Amino acid sequence: MIVQVLLDLPLEQSFDFTMSEATVADIGYRVLVPWGKGQRVGVIRGVSEVSEHPPEKLKEVVTLWRDTGPLTPHDWKLLEFCSSYYHHPLGATVLNSLPPALRRPAGLKSANRRRSSEKYVPEYVIPALTPEQSQALECVTLHTGFRTHLLFGVTGSGKTEVYFHLIDRVLGQGKQVLLLVPEINLTPQLEQRLEQRWKGVRWVSLHSGVSEKERGLRWLEAQSGEARIVLGTRLAVFTPLPDLGLIVVDEEHDASYKQQEGLRYSARDVAIVRAQQRNVPIILGSATPSLETWDNARRGRYDLHYLRHRAVAGAQLPTLRLVRPAQDIQDGLNPIILQALREALSRGEQSLVFINRRGYAPVLYCPGCGWQAVCNRCSVRLVVHRRSQFLRCHHCGAQQPLPAYCPSCGNLHLETRGEGTQKIEEWLVKQLPDARLLRLDSDSLGRKGTWEEARQRILARQVDILVGTQLLVKGHDFPGLSLVIALNADQALFSSDFRATERLFAQLIQVAGRAGRGAIRGEVWIETEYADHPLYHALQNQDSEGFLQQELEQRQQVGWPPYSYLALLRVEAEKSEVIAEFLSKAHQQARQFAAAGEIQVYDPVPALMARRAGLQRWQLLIQSNHRGNLQGFLTLWHSALMNLRHPRELHWILEVDPLDC
Ligand code: ADP
Ligand code: ZN
Ligand code: ZN
Repeated sequence: MIVQVLLDLPLEQSFDFTMSEATVADIGYRVLVPWGKGQRVGVIRGVSEVSEHPPEKLKEVVTLWRDTGPLTPHDWKLLEFCSSYYHHPLGATVLNSLPPALRRPAGLKSANRRRSSEKYVPEYVIPALTPEQSQALECVTLHTGFRTHLLFGVTGSGKTEVYFHLIDRVLGQGKQVLLLVPEINLTPQLEQRLEQRWKGVRWVSLHSGVSEKERGLRWLEAQSGEARIVLGTRLAVFTPLPDLGLIVVDEEHDASYKQQEGLRYSARDVAIVRAQQRNVPIILGSATPSLETWDNARRGRYDLHYLRHRAVAGAQLPTLRLVRPAQDIQDGLNPIILQALREALSRGEQSLVFINRRGYAPVLYCPGCGWQAVCNRCSVRLVVHRRSQFLRCHHCGAQQPLPAYCPSCGNLHLETRGEGTQKIEEWLVKQLPDARLLRLDSDSLGRKGTWEEARQRILARQVDILVGTQLLVKGHDFPGLSLVIALNADQALFSSDFRATERLFAQLIQVAGRAGRGAIRGEVWIETEYADHPLYHALQNQDSEGFLQQELEQRQQVGWPPYSYLALLRVEAEKSEVIAEFLSKAHQQARQFAAAGEIQVYDPVPALMARRAGLQRWQLLIQSNHRGNLQGFLTLWHSALMNLRHPRELHWILEVDPLDC
């Protein structure tokens, strides 16, 4: 017999091998096949008696593994959708949906695992739902079958409790639940809640922090139906779930749901398609929905449920004030902010100083001639790391010692510009010597387990002031935190990325939402020089809906998403001529295919980051008002691109629904 095998290759086809006594029941199993001088893992796509190739040319399958179940028709359907929608080869899509341990020849040997640790787990007291929570719950459960619900709830409104009640009902019906969170750091908090809430229920969490072997074993538990709840980051969206009954996507607006390499999918969008294919409900939760989601809810395509109040009795949304930054960076923070920090400290409450570091990290500059330290492989400034005395590129990782003098004019007095977390930390230590400070950013969180340790310390009130970046913002629940300070917010107002304001607003609402979640009223200070900007008006009133409406109108005027659909061809190579030649052909083809209907083809332009790790980067944007037209166009263009010859050093990728462009 002949089996058609899919492999992880940038090619559309499957490959024929011989396998004695193969039957259709073998479809969806993993196999090991000879490939060149080595071997590769593949998945059986089909079985037949004949092949286009002469039998003597065909090689035989080396091993068929049955240590996992086969991919089911449900699984295939989802993967086929992804392959076709994102224009990514099916083989690469299928193999990459498997946990890494199952993509390798060794496979998994299920060892004796110690089941859930013997950690002390506090009792979970299920709170009586607030009227808003109950109403949302009842409305969601009115529908059976597929329906997309948006749970639009202010920060601290108890969205999780609504998810949990739904999960309870679904578990009671003997079904499985997929619970997605944007960020690996959010899993410990939820893991603890799951542990407390469902003692007898087997659940697993899947994210990149789990060892490969363990991830493989947990994946198997989901596939066999043993695990009833799967909690995970975007990669978990492909986990096989035979009894799927509900999907929850928490913080649906979060850009971390977008995979930025290989198959560039949006886990939120894939989750919606999956819910539709399986005819089960899906809940999207957010305090600041994405414009795409908001638009769908507004038009009635999604059901909309509001939670307008905080859940904890007496808890209110924090008061929010705007303050001008200190005149000179060297002065540190505005005295008003310092005073607020002192007061919180004296009341024994915790504070968070959030630094929006995007593009504002401390850079080295020469006041004499204006020279700045830049990475010569990427077109970005190098970041000063004070402690290690190094300049580091945050894009390619290149590093060099801090220079002693200006390489351009010889000036010995170089200065740093911009406020990084380290600089603020140093300043705070001087101003508030009694405060116990904890700095959390990607540099200090590099080590595994650090976050969980930090979280425990914060909860145990061993920390007074937290200093950190994006990482601290999302979804955390620290009852002792009453004061939040956001620095360097304005940058995004001037970005060329049309989504920058949407992101800034979501980020500031999120960070403000960390304040005053318990009984104490929260207070938020935001540093800005543009207090009259409409974004800050909406923010001060904590009026997400107003902001969304205002942003939506602007998008409509210029025709950006959600009023249109985008695709982006990204190209990178060392030599400009190589890129130019490829792009000119690609552009020409695109214009030709676009003639058929309502497709706008833009001119190729350098990417926002025009150089990275020594490579030139360009992009070509395609836009259409019709998703269907765009898909039709992309099918034609993609196969033309696949046939375009180019030097090996050039890499291209076609991205559907790009977030950064
Ligand atoms: P969100 O995800 O909407 O920001 P959470 O789900 O984290 O909010 O809930 C915020 C806080 O409110 C948590 O400490 C949670 O335990 C508490 N909470 C949720 N629902 C209730 C309720 N019905 N009564 C009292 N406290 C609640
Ligand atoms: Zn100089
Ligand atoms: Zn670099």
